[in-house]
Amino acid sequence: MAVKRMDTGACPICGRALSRFTTHVTLKDDTKICRDCENKLRVKYPLSYYIRSRGTKRYRKDPLQELTLMEFLAELEGVKEYVEDLREKYGFNAVYQVEDITMEPNGWFDPPLIFAKGRVVYGFFDIGDKVRVVRRGVGVDAEIKGINRQFGEEQDIIDWEHRGEPGYPCDSIVFSQKDLIVAPGDIIVK
Ligand SMILES: [Zn+2]
Repeated sequence: MAVKRMDTGACPICGRALSRFTTHVTLKDDTKICRDCENKLRVKYPLSYYIRSRGTKRYRKDPLQELTLMEFLAELEGVKEYVEDLREKYGFNAVYQVEDITMEPNGWFDPPLIFAKGRVVYGFFDIGDKVRVVRRGVGVDAEIKGINRQFGEEQDIIDWEHRGEPGYPCDSIVFSQKDLIVAPGDIIVK
């Protein structure tokens, strides 16, 4: 008797079971990689979204999908060194590149909300982090009030939705602080 089975496989890197209920990325050679392994290389292969000139449908641009499993494994070997080089270059543990700013009033008594759109270059950012907003080498202290990931691309990892992770676009890192100015081109560091 034929047994109907769910089409499941395992991540070839860590062995975790994959199914249609898990989030995974499909490589160029059709290999499926689990979310955790995907995250290890994201810093070097950042995910982005774009919307075509007409319409509102968003498209995912994922450079990891251009790699074969062999290439993925080779890249994984060097990723630690890649991040170390970035740390040395910038001189911080984590860096966020600000691309765009929007502001909203925040009631009568609180400073306006500043939404800094951009992406995490490397390292991690969490709500409550004490950071510095750096412009032309000059830094100002600030505290992160909120983090909104773009399009919630990892719907199965709700806990991480408000964490800034390397290689994922951020809809905003949120500040509300008297006299704080954040501008496109600034970096947020810690
Ligand atoms: Zn894996």
